[in-house]
Amino acid sequence: MVEQPYQYRRRELAEPDWRRLPGWADVTRAEWESAQWQRAHSVKNARQLRDVVGGGLSEAFLADLERDQRERATMSMLLPPQMLNTIAPSVAGPAAEFTDAWYADPVRRYMLPVFSDRQPEWPSHPYATRDSLHEAEMWAVEGLTHRYPTKVLAELVPTCPQYCGHCTRMDLVGNPTPSFDKHRFTGARDDRLSAMLGYLRSTPTVRDVVVSGGDVANLPWPRVEAFVSALLEIESIRDIRLASKALMGLPQHWLAPDVLAGVTRLAAVARARGVSLAVHTHVNAAQSVTPLVARATRALLDAGVRDVRNQGVLLRGVNDSPGALLDLCFCLLDEAGVTPYYFYQCDMIPGAEHWRLSVREAQALQSAIMGYLPGFATPRVVCDVPYVGKRWVHQVARYDTELGISYWTKGYLTALEAGDPVALEREYPCYDPVHLLPASGQAWWRDQAPRSSRRLQTVSRGDR
Ligand code: SF4
Repeated sequence: MVEQPYQYRRRELAEPDWRRLPGWADVTRAEWESAQWQRAHSVKNARQLRDVVGGGLSEAFLADLERDQRERATMSMLLPPQMLNTIAPSVAGPAAEFTDAWYADPVRRYMLPVFSDRQPEWPSHPYATRDSLHEAEMWAVEGLTHRYPTKVLAELVPTCPQYCGHCTRMDLVGNPTPSFDKHRFTGARDDRLSAMLGYLRSTPTVRDVVVSGGDVANLPWPRVEAFVSALLEIESIRDIRLASKALMGLPQHWLAPDVLAGVTRLAAVARARGVSLAVHTHVNAAQSVTPLVARATRALLDAGVRDVRNQGVLLRGVNDSPGALLDLCFCLLDEAGVTPYYFYQCDMIPGAEHWRLSVREAQALQSAIMGYLPGFATPRVVCDVPYVGKRWVHQVARYDTELGISYWTKGYLTALEAGDPVALEREYPCYDPVHLLPASGQAWWRDQAPRSSRRLQTVSRGDR
């Protein structure tokens, strides 16, 4: 047999035993499999984390976590037990060993960031912004982003059952942190949802709706079902995708009988009308794929959704190697029936520099994973370019690797560019983390940083 750079092997899924953690030593399987129990026992602060892990984590780790929440965090802490249980799943032992395992753990690294994780000189890129994709500027009505010609993103709810440290929608999603307040929708929820439906009824060029948030698992199911049912009555809508990281973070929600019954009803109508109804989730590490996640995915497929797809995020220390990405993709595909679909580069929100990869690193990862997975399940590694949208990382038009500035073009207009004669010729910039640049590039950024309040588009080769 030829030795390969990546050795494929199947791995049997296992639900880590939650009873290994002192706070959950008496939790029954029935409690664990209840979405209500999971939501009620989600961990929201260091004190609750200490209660769950007992003396396992060092005081220094907990202080590191609390300092991050005070000084850097863009998202407040929220982890359902299901997700917390996948951190360092097989480590038991003295506090030092346990704490080291937590520091190194991929899920911990993005769900429970600590202060010492952050990049010390450049915790944020000079051009990082709260709404880094400018989604709110492209709202057709409040919460409905119309960025591409034929598809829209509907943000139904600004909360999730779990908060990821790197969340792109940190401007809108979740609770305020000591350093970051949150934008609040001005309209009442039902009015906003009605306005979205009104816009879609009068805009037949839109055929594809991503029903998102936040996470649709945080909207009462009858409201989700009513919204999707209304979408299914709009003749021009041909694709509907429900976005829920909770399929991994809180699979108990999607296994609840009332939710599955509702999905079955929607899927039947979708099938009868020739509309594709799919679920998109967000898994970044193979260890997050547990038997419960696989069971929830199978249940959704059995209920009639056409596909369950994964949109992960490339994060340093989490999945930034070909082996980690392929392990995750095979685990999703072989053991859970989830189709790997995209890996996004982490967006340029504040505090993200220690997570972000350069375009060059992302291109190398895309190249390295080609050829192992079936074509239909080979994820595309994409950069979500501000004012442009998703671009495959090899589509970069021009790339200054010294300054870490990539330039991208597009073949469509948003409403913001209506009447702009050069929008389709313009190159839109995106930025690599400064700490990855050669010394000359870092020196240039140190010189520029005080003037970094200039608009995003103004940095170009001419500024050098
Ligand atoms: S589940 Fe999605 S929307 Fe919610 S915090 Fe995570 S990345 Fe953000």
